[in-house]
Amino acid sequence: MRLAGLSLVLLGCTTDSVAGSTVLTGATVVGVGITDVRIEDGRITAVGAGLTADAVVDVSGQFIVPSVIDAHVHLAYWDVADDLPAGGLAAVVDLASPMAFLDVDTTLPMVRSGPMVTAEGGYPTRSWGANGYGLEVSSIAQAQQAVDTLIANGAGVIKAPITSGLSHQTEVLLAIVERAHTANILVVSHAVDQSEAAIAAAAGVDVLAHTPITTLGDAISDWSDRAVISSLAAFGNSPTTRDNLLALHQAGATVLYGTDMGNQRVAGVNVRELQAMRDAGLTNAEVLTAATSAPAMLFGFNDHGTIEAGKVASLLVLDDDPLLDVTALARPSQIWFNGQLVTH
Ligand SMILES: [Zn+2]
Repeated sequence: MRLAGLSLVLLGCTTDSVAGSTVLTGATVVGVGITDVRIEDGRITAVGAGLTADAVVDVSGQFIVPSVIDAHVHLAYWDVADDLPAGGLAAVVDLASPMAFLDVDTTLPMVRSGPMVTAEGGYPTRSWGANGYGLEVSSIAQAQQAVDTLIANGAGVIKAPITSGLSHQTEVLLAIVERAHTANILVVSHAVDQSEAAIAAAAGVDVLAHTPITTLGDAISDWSDRAVISSLAAFGNSPTTRDNLLALHQAGATVLYGTDMGNQRVAGVNVRELQAMRDAGLTNAEVLTAATSAPAMLFGFNDHGTIEAGKVASLLVLDDDPLLDVTALARPSQIWFNGQLVTH
């Protein structure tokens, strides 16, 4: 293939700047079949048989999937954003950072919450998030002000924790959710047991930041038309937690792959999380969806999540069929990010 001299250094890895168009030929585009994929100017410009281009990359016998979206990371807490394209990630959702992180420029597409909107003294302001990871509110007016400020500063999602300790009054939580929804912004809650998940559902929260770790029971049905971020590996990966994830999935909830990166230290696709989701009972195809198209759709990464013309060319070439073993996502033979081949 023809490579121009320009390279963008990604902490130990480089993305080769490819001039003109490239066709990946001979691979199975997962969900489509054996076909060609043309990449030009950072985008997938065609998917189909017999495509031509300036350069041809033969990937016969391999498999092409979109790069992974991690729906739960903390990149202000662990500064590896520049490493993640080379780790096979297309985009991330950052679910708690100090306010200043909302302004940080990154190559990696990111939806960010900024600080969690939390109660006075609430999670995580007296523990790991003491350094600006929580915006403390104690009234409806303060809650509305906090949500408005976050959105004005670029937050694309609002996170409001619900805990057994100091936590929001019902009316304050309702005000947070209503204010965010008025701006068409989703609300994610850290709500890790049955009662917290029930409170979150009653308040209209859209997404569970973690699979709850105590038996959900009746709270399962509350979440049937909402979403849950897996984070199994980060939270002990117990049988109860895995059962909750499967039950939520079977009830109709949207399952999203998320690792709590920052608290978990894998700067790329986390094979333990993929395996834990399989162990919970999701199929390989369902885990693949949870790591690609589902988060793209929910969080508005409209240019990502599928292999089709017009999307950003952030994709993985795999030796092994991910529909037979989805942990193949963690060992790509090629990584393309924004139309550039990432080389190690
Ligand atoms: Zn987290």
